[in-house]
Amino acid sequence: MAAGVTDRLEAYSSEERKERRNMTREIKKCECGLVWKLVKVKTPYGIRDSDSLQCSCGRELISWNGRHTWTAEVVNKGEKNSR
Ligand SMILES: [Zn+2]
Repeated sequence: MAAGVTDRLEAYSSEERKERRNMTREIKKCECGLVWKLVKVKTPYGIRDSDSLQCSCGRELISWNGRHTWTAEVVNKGEKNSR
């Protein structure tokens, strides 16, 4: 089970370095029309292991695991499709 773990860690840490430089943000449009701004936030190690965020309609916006969390904020309510 231990094989490959080191490879994965190396790949992850180099990617994490990149992310830290650019401060990870993502714009995600839900199928319900809401547009969310997702911002990656560092949390103290051990507080969260894995988690996810849901849109107010209940669809999953993002899921992750690791030493960070994401915050979501509505940036655009889009068209009033669903009523
Ligand atoms: Zn939604």
